[in-house]
Amino acid sequence: MSGLLDSLGVRPLVNAVGPATRLGSGVLAPAVLDAMREAAGVYVRMHELQAAAGGEIAALTGAEAGYVTNGAAGALLLAAAACIAGDDPALMNRLPDASGGRDEIVVHRGQRIAYDHALRAAGARLVEIGFPDLTFPYELDAAIGERTAAVAYFSNSGANALPLEQVVEIAHARGVPVILDASLAVPPLANLRRFAALGVDLIAVSGGKWIGGPAASGFLAGRADLIRSVALQHQDQDVRVETWHGAPLIAAGTVAGPPHQGIGRPLKVGKEEIAGLLAALRAYAARDHAADQARWRADALTVVDACAGIDGVRAALLEADGRERGWPVAELDLRSPARAYALVRALAEGAPAIALDEALAWRGLVRVTPTHLREGEAALVARSLAAALTSTQTLDRKDTEA
Ligand SMILES: *Cc1c(COP(=O)(O)O)cnc(C)c1O
Repeated sequence: MSGLLDSLGVRPLVNAVGPATRLGSGVLAPAVLDAMREAAGVYVRMHELQAAAGGEIAALTGAEAGYVTNGAAGALLLAAAACIAGDDPALMNRLPDASGGRDEIVVHRGQRIAYDHALRAAGARLVEIGFPDLTFPYELDAAIGERTAAVAYFSNSGANALPLEQVVEIAHARGVPVILDASLAVPPLANLRRFAALGVDLIAVSGGKWIGGPAASGFLAGRADLIRSVALQHQDQDVRVETWHGAPLIAAGTVAGPPHQGIGRPLKVGKEEIAGLLAALRAYAARDHAADQARWRADALTVVDACAGIDGVRAALLEADGRERGWPVAELDLRSPARAYALVRALAEGAPAIALDEALAWRGLVRVTPTHLREGEAALVARSLAAALTSTQTLDRKDTEA
């Protein structure tokens, strides 16, 4: 790889944010790259590769079936499309126009997040229930009607949403599937088995975030009939009935015929992503997660120790709580949003550039998430932070620029 980025004039940076798509997601392990290289050198029937990969995802999660997508957001779009269209190829062809069909997806108002655009992109209209701080079970029941395609739930989001167990129970009592965005629920991987055991109908997971797969990978785990609909709406459908691998579905009366290129067709997944995701999943399942946690904690402490005692900064280690966050972070409280943003800018302009978590900078907080730091980078981040924080000049100059 040496050479290409250089020739483009694009500088690599240090990622102290965690698995952020805007920073290139993760760094791929050799085993993942080997799998992608193997897949890159051959031709395969993509539906066969998907079916085999899906079987492995199913075995790993305990779900009935699995499917590789181009990310969790793509997985959410495909999940919504499957819940709306089911096995109806004419409706598949019509999406995102789902008018007249089951085109509503129920969500907690307190769980509205930017990624729910993916559900709407399939043609769903979101029907909100509850308030950000309080939702009653009867509100979910009352929101479900003839036009309800699914209930969507975003794990680790919305402090006072109904428990997932209860959402599944109420939705299933009304014959409606539950789509779960589990992007933030891994680690631990064991959560996916728990969700599948609860009966969640489609679980969406990001491959690039924690699992170590390519940035443009993710997967769905869930009900076989819904995964079948996902496949029909995602895979290349330049097919003829006479030779279509799905012909047995026609013979069985499951579908009237093959759909055309579907709503998921622009969300293409290459054989390289499928291979890379599977290699990453295998490695992740066998990984020593306790060792990861210990290394992350030590790296976060390196940052906290370097910044503790600097004037105007409070440095704290926030432990993994397994609820909001499955990993430790170092948090710096600068008690001023302007100084917090100035610190983020100062490190972004350094050499090497360091990306800090600015999500809470509006409250004066800057975080270092240690999970995507490589060997030796924690010490570098700690030194750079301490230098910028002690040179108040830097921050105050930036302050007035802001
Ligand atoms: C990152 C994220 C996604 C999207 O995941 P991709 O794999 O990048 O598509 C969806 N939902 C949540 C909550 C996320 O944090």
